Amino acid sequence: MSERKGVPGEGLVKGLAVTLKTMTRRSTTQQYPDVAPELPPRSRGVIALLEENCTVCMLCARECPDWCIYIDSHKEEVAVPGAARPRQRNVLDRFDIDFSLCMYCGICIEVCPFDALYWSPEFEYAEYDIKDLLHDKDHLGEWMATVPPPPAHDPNGEPAKEESVAARKAATPAARPAVRPAPAAPADGGEGTPR
Ligand code: SF4
Ligand code: SF4
Repeated sequence: MSERKGVPGEGLVKGLAVTLKTMTRRSTTQQYPDVAPELPPRSRGVIALLEENCTVCMLCARECPDWCIYIDSHKEEVAVPGAARPRQRNVLDRFDIDFSLCMYCGICIEVCPFDALYWSPEFEYAEYDIKDLLHDKDHLGEWMATVPPPPAHDPNGEPAKEESVAARKAATPAARPAVRPAPAAPADGGEGTPR
């Protein structure tokens, strides 16, 4: 097998060419923290909790692959006027997310059936003590102020199903009870023909 012999200094020239090419390229260094980065509004920074919407269904905690959502609750009886028995409802005692374990997959937000969890683009919550990355429900609730509003509807898109059903109902005249025609009197004035 013959060994390929290169021109002396070929490697040096190639290396210098790469250096020159890189030197003339525009720098993409982010000057953070002096200059805040321009992140897309839906960036996955931190998870915010809208406590009023949470029904303690536990779906998020069950689906979290890292098991880093901790929920505690108790049941409370609520008297309903006119009802024979009081109703029961869940009251949230604890809702913590451990961001030292979270991998920002977003599954908890996706599975929440009651829109209680949201992404906020805030990412500056580093701590000196790892234990402080456990955010309780008050802390998670404070992030709600940083959640961007939802994007506007596409003007060319189809209306939501609920909207089109409501519009159809509004356009339809109210259903009236069907009036059954009175049975015709027999021509001979006697009783009708037996079936
Ligand atoms: S983003 Fe993923 S890992 Fe983090 S709390 Fe939600 S489900 Fe768990
Ligand atoms: S899935 Fe939503 S409603 Fe259910 S416990 Fe989690 S945050 Fe609350």
